[in-house]
Amino acid sequence: MAPEHTPLTVAQAQLKLAAKKLNLDSGIHKILSQPKRSILVSVDIRMDNCTVGVFRGIRVQHWDVRGPFKGGIRFYPNITMDEVTALAMLMTWKCSIADIPYGGAKGGICVDSKKLSKGELERLTRRYVSLIVEYLGPHRDIPAPDMYTDAQTMAWIMDTYSQLKGYSIPECVTGKPVEIGGSEGRTEATGKGVIHCVKEAAANIDLKLKNAEVAIQGFGNVGFHAAQAAHGLGCKVVAVSDSSGGIYCQKGLNPDAVLAHKEKTGSVQNFKGCKNITNEELIEAKCDILIPAALQNQITQKNADKIQARMVAEAANGPTTPEADRILHEKNICLIPDILANCGGVTVSYFEWVQNLTREHWTLEKVNGKLETKMTKAFNDVYSLSQEEESDMRTAALMLGVGRVASAIKTLGLWP
Ligand code: NAD
Repeated sequence: MAPEHTPLTVAQAQLKLAAKKLNLDSGIHKILSQPKRSILVSVDIRMDNCTVGVFRGIRVQHWDVRGPFKGGIRFYPNITMDEVTALAMLMTWKCSIADIPYGGAKGGICVDSKKLSKGELERLTRRYVSLIVEYLGPHRDIPAPDMYTDAQTMAWIMDTYSQLKGYSIPECVTGKPVEIGGSEGRTEATGKGVIHCVKEAAANIDLKLKNAEVAIQGFGNVGFHAAQAAHGLGCKVVAVSDSSGGIYCQKGLNPDAVLAHKEKTGSVQNFKGCKNITNEELIEAKCDILIPAALQNQITQKNADKIQARMVAEAANGPTTPEADRILHEKNICLIPDILANCGGVTVSYFEWVQNLTREHWTLEKVNGKLETKMTKAFNDVYSLSQEEESDMRTAALMLGVGRVASAIKTLGLWP
């Protein structure tokens, strides 16, 4: 990424592009350029060794005109207000594209969670919730897991919020363990959703999925479940990777066997019958479909031209830099942008909230069926707009996402 780009300048440039294409009212553009509320708190806890730990906590609520705020909480060293604001803005567009009644938010605590004990993480989570409790709630702002937070973190959030309000409120957070109101199918939703989009896109570019070669960067939650879903459709998963490197096998891999190997050895590398490759080689590997499912800024000006895939499905948030985006477009590579490709996670989070509010528990089949319907509709809404506007898929996704939010602001008006 060029040095002048920050996550927020990229997000604002994307909004500007959508605003121009939509001929958006300049007042609405101004409103959407900034978050409605940014909260900065000092999260002070007693460490195990009796010293005091002071951590910076952030919650950014972008816009809530389509419904309550929704977005993950990440525990990560060096997170900034700028980055969290950009991610909150993207969540607003993502919820709008998925057509679920939420606005975007994001939060985080600036911490290297691997260095804290479980007890310290619990105290950190509960103290953070207590500091922002008045801005949270099932009809205000509903957090979810993100990098280095998980179902256990969400259980602590639910308990702290409920204790402070005086009664049990499972609908205040999603991504919880199933036994306390979590939804079936939430864990695999993002990866499965990516492959629903791939299926639709493949039909549009006349790519046969049977034996189509798939390379996936990142073999965590999203990468593994995307690999499993692609394998289930008859694709050949030829390469996968994690932070220590990747593997390639032209004959195709069985994702479950690779996961078992990773659980045993700590890495996907040295899997029987495969060649070890680097993460850079994975991006440039011979394949039909490339799925970045790890970090941001992996497809750049340096490697975009070397990509051999016909399709790139962005499972990760922001894996392609703006310069690389232009190169992929020039190469006529079919791109499924992040705000569309990975919206399956927040979609099943929405299903979890609906189940909690109605005190129901849906079967896995029901959740998966509804997820497929939502993803297929979202993909086709974006695709139709890209055809009408003769634009690339990222621009069309932004136009759809921003357009629905702008229309809600216009209808509601500005009070007082
Ligand atoms: P995860 O922590 O479960 O997995 C991340 C994977 O990336 C791990 O396999 C890790 O080893 C690998 N990785 C880390 N550094 C790497 C590197 N330098 N090169 C290659 N691989 C590397 O995370 P996740 O939940 O699977 O999320 C992956 C991406 O998807 C993130 O960008 C996240 O923001 C995005 N996303 C996740 C969800 C969700 O529901 N989990 C929803 C939307 C978007």
